[in-house]
Amino acid sequence: MFEKVLIANRGEIALRIHRACREMGIHTVAVHSTADEDAMHVRLADESVCIGPPPSKDSYLNMPAILSAATITGADAIHPGVGFLSENADFATMVAEHGLTFIGPDPVHLRSMGDKVTAKRTMRELGVPVVPGSEGAIDTDEEAWRVAEKIGYPVLIKAAAGGGGRGMKVAVNRAAMGDALRLARNEARNAFGYEAVYLEKYLGHPRHIEIQVLADAHGNVVHLGDRDCSLQRRHQKMLEEGPSPALNPDQRAEIGRRAAEATRAMGYKGVGTFEFLYEDGQFYFIEMNTRLQVEHPVTEAITGVDLVREQIRAAAGLPLAMSQGDVVIQGHAIECRINAENPRTFVPSPGKVTDYHAPGGLSVRVDSGLYAGYRIPPYYDSLIAKLIVHGQTRNECLMRLRRALEEFVVEGVETTIPLHRKLIAEPEFIDGAYDIHWLQRYVDAMTED
Ligand code: ADP
Repeated sequence: MFEKVLIANRGEIALRIHRACREMGIHTVAVHSTADEDAMHVRLADESVCIGPPPSKDSYLNMPAILSAATITGADAIHPGVGFLSENADFATMVAEHGLTFIGPDPVHLRSMGDKVTAKRTMRELGVPVVPGSEGAIDTDEEAWRVAEKIGYPVLIKAAAGGGGRGMKVAVNRAAMGDALRLARNEARNAFGYEAVYLEKYLGHPRHIEIQVLADAHGNVVHLGDRDCSLQRRHQKMLEEGPSPALNPDQRAEIGRRAAEATRAMGYKGVGTFEFLYEDGQFYFIEMNTRLQVEHPVTEAITGVDLVREQIRAAAGLPLAMSQGDVVIQGHAIECRINAENPRTFVPSPGKVTDYHAPGGLSVRVDSGLYAGYRIPPYYDSLIAKLIVHGQTRNECLMRLRRALEEFVVEGVETTIPLHRKLIAEPEFIDGAYDIHWLQRYVDAMTED
């Protein structure tokens, strides 16, 4: 097992990884920008190294600085966390070239799943159901028309390098295609430096349901149930729950089995997530995330498996601590992502947290680096806390979540806590009868009031 792990990330996820390391007896090295000197992940780590000025490109994305920090502190592995360099195949390769272990899958898988066109082709070949669409990237309007005529309008144009919902445009008919293609390409080029786009059937009322898998380097794979992440604003997840209220145990077992089989066939190792859209009883693969997910605690709550611990063990070459028969889905869990944003306009609200009180009690978990007096820097993602609540039933989980959100105090900055309080009282949410467009409509209606 590793003796020292460098955590190449910040915020709640850096803290999450630190906690797993601590429980495994592994020393931690935090890295931070000059804006994060007072951050909790820096305070709790055994050692810390400043890797650059505030902008991410100069610090948390600064590969030479991170590799130097790992070398001078004598770390033997690097955990990339979520976002930043977590899906960067070049970085994973450089980590290995420095004689260190990248805690994640092999670069070949980061690369193939990072290109969504290749990912979809791979899954199609492995018998995973995918969204109907183009076989590969689309170069001309004529090509796009041909595919669209075959699958039917409306269609969605997506960036092959996609992420964060950027580079996605809907074309409702043939006339709209040209503009949609150009806009998607521009957005893709600006966001990812790679303008290839592909085409998919636009689904009118799907849910977003994803399957968590876990694999070691010896061909053992388990699936750990599903998470429903349909509550999204601008294609960004806001609240996740598991198991999905839309699936029955047989459907869950079947899609889980297919994801696990594909994982095994690819020779993939570590944690991974198969993202699907689910509509009218059908699953459609959209992408595989080759890293830990922000919403991983939902799975931890309903399975009792420490995903970060298992991820670190897999990277160290140890066999999985469980087989599929050991995985039992127990009860229900919901995660609320809490952002430092105005809860109506979603304008970021960085600044000093003057008062902070996190909820507690049975089956309530808060992952956050906040404390009273902490100054939220304006340079990074506005996620400041995750509240994860577990219950024996979905109803119990909801009651507990309501209570926990009432207790949650963050003063000095605006947060999305009030929005979560409102949201979970909505009849459609309580009934579990929502699709991926529901929250956007809800938020739009609220903003118009
Ligand atoms: P990204 O990698 O940019 O996050 P995804 O492919 O994961 O992009 O899609 C993000 C979200 O966009 C999905 O969760 C879903 O809400 C919506 N979406 C993606 N593909 C489709 C589709 N074919 N039809 C309708 N909505 C879609």
